[in-house]
This record gives sequence, C-alpha cells and structure tokens, in this order.
Amino acid sequence: MLADRYNRRINYLRISLTDRCNLRCIYCMPPEGERKLRHRDILRYEELLRIARIAIKLGIRKIRLTGGEPLVRKGVDEFIPMLTALEGLDDVSLTTNGVYLKDNLEMLKDSGIKRINVSLDSLKRLNFKYITRFDYFNRVWEGIEKARDMGFYPIKLNIVIMKGINDNEVLDFGRLAMEQPYHIRFIECMPIGLQANCTAFMPNTEIEKALVDRFGPLVPVGPGKNDGPAKRFRFEGGKGEIGFISAISHSFCHECNRLRLTANGKLLPCLLSNTEVDLKDPIRRGYLDEDLIEIFLKAVEIKPRCHPLNSENYESVQRKMCSIGG
Ligand code: SAM
Repeated sequence: MLADRYNRRINYLRISLTDRCNLRCIYCMPPEGERKLRHRDILRYEELLRIARIAIKLGIRKIRLTGGEPLVRKGVDEFIPMLTALEGLDDVSLTTNGVYLKDNLEMLKDSGIKRINVSLDSLKRLNFKYITRFDYFNRVWEGIEKARDMGFYPIKLNIVIMKGINDNEVLDFGRLAMEQPYHIRFIECMPIGLQANCTAFMPNTEIEKALVDRFGPLVPVGPGKNDGPAKRFRFEGGKGEIGFISAISHSFCHECNRLRLTANGKLLPCLLSNTEVDLKDPIRRGYLDEDLIEIFLKAVEIKPRCHPLNSENYESVQRKMCSIGG
C-alpha cells in the first residue's frame, strides 16, 4: 500500500496521454494552441505500460486517461486494451471532450471501460462553439447519447461554470440531471494557465443555491468507492446526479489519493503546485524497475499536505491544464 507522510493512501494515477487537443476552450488554451511537446518527448506506449505496471505493484488501483485530448493520440485504440488488460487494476476510466467519443465507444466497451467523463461546458450549440471555438456540439452530444444507450455508467458531464459565459445554463444542467441518468459535475475554475486570475470564477455555493431554488432540495448520495473529491447529490425524483468539485471554496486535499503523470513523463504529486519528479529520462537511460520505484516513492514523499494556493509564498502554477490533464 502506497501512503504519504500524512497517511493518505495513494491509489489513483491520472495519465495524460498527449498535450494535443482538438478544441481550444477559451479558459484553457489560446486560439493558436499552446507550444507542442516534441514527439520524442512524449512517453511512448510501451513506456506508459511499464510505468503502469510499476504503479500497480506499488498499490495504484485506479487509472484515468486524460490529455490534452486522449482520443486524438494515434494508436490509442490499441493502447487502451493493453492497459485495461494489466492485472491488478480495479478501474480504468477516461476523461474526454467527446469529439471522438462516438467512434471509440465499441473499443472502450470491449476494453472493459465503463466510466466516462465528458467535459461539456454548454448544452447550446452556439455557446459550445463560443467556448470551445469549434462547432462540434452535435457530434459530442451524439457520442454521449450513444454511450448512454450502450450502457456506460456513470457518464459524468464535467462543467466549468464561468460568470457571463455559461452561468445562464446552470438550470439547464440541473434539468438534465432531473430527466437523464447523467452525473453532472460542476468543477470550480482553478487558477492555472490562462485562468491564473480566474476572472470569471463562480463558486459552487452560488450554483447550488440556484439549483435548490429552482428544483428543490439536493439529497446527499454516496460516498461511493469512485467518488473522489466530488460531493454528490440527487434531486427528489431525479434520474441523474449533481456533483460539486470545489477545489477553491472547499479544499479536499486531506483526502487526495492521486498522482498525475504528464505526457512528457513528469510525475506530479499535486495539481496546484509546481513540484514534479521526472520519470522519462531515467526510463530512457535504462534505469531498473527498482530505481523507478524509488522515483515514485519520492513523488509520494514530497506530496504537500495541502495545495499552496492560500500560502504566503504561493507561486502560480507554471503548467497549463492541457499539459497536466486536469
Ligand atoms: N480533453 C479532455 C477533456 O476535455 O476532458 C481532457 C483534458 S481537459 C484539460 C480536462 C479538464 O480540465 C476539462 O474538464 C476542463 O474543463 C478542465 N479545465 C481546464 N482548465 C481548467 C481550469 N482552469 N479550472 C478548472 N478546470 C479546468
């Protein structure tokens, strides 16, 4: 069992498969995109599988694939089945923007993936286009509906609500949780990359109030084994769920169980700190598994008790969300 200095059990690894993305969400990337990693600096699939095997040996039981956009990486349809075939994992899941979801659902199902998170900041085609800079709402929505019809569960829809941009859709998302089995997750905007100042920040408390005023009380659900930091609720008679991930207004660091691996092989103990340890160079210099285990243990050892946002010497996060994977 992998545990840190504060007795938190570390059993969850989020792997960013690529820094490339096929959307340019206004709060995440500039229109021209970010400077891309060189291909040779991105971990190869066999390196990722080796890291996953070592992580499992150490006690990692859950892996989530993210990006950039994980489904744009060439060969992902061959990699995912190899990853899910590794012994010792209880859960492999995926976070995607949904643009290529429909085309990959059979592969995901055959690989044993049941849980999918789709980032969807708007239910309106034109607002979706404004936020993502691409007119892909219809194909994303088709992918979500097809996933539902194929029995994927839960399908979580992750939404970052920004004042003046999509805050007028809070009730539409609430209605969706009433009528459909989707798990709506409101994620508070974090001060990373383009959002260093979170100018459009909307606290989840305001969203919750608007939902309760319109649809009535939110009944707590859970906790379930895959809840993570979300506080989950259901409306009376609702088919879906509402969840709040409130990194800023309610820190959940005390229950953080995760490490993150960036596409270029940095292991990050905390999303909101600049601390990292490198795995790529040691792997390419021929380090043995025992040495890589030491590197993993070091990442766990330096995991901070809490994100440093409120500390006096806080240095803003240098990495962009698209390179960390959220
Ligand atoms: N392309 C995939 C997707 O769209 O889900 C995975 C990568 S994307 C960077 C992961 C998540 O990070 C998305 O749900 C996105 O909304 C979220 N995100 C990006 N910047 C953020 C910020 N500043 N605060 C909170 N969430 C953010």
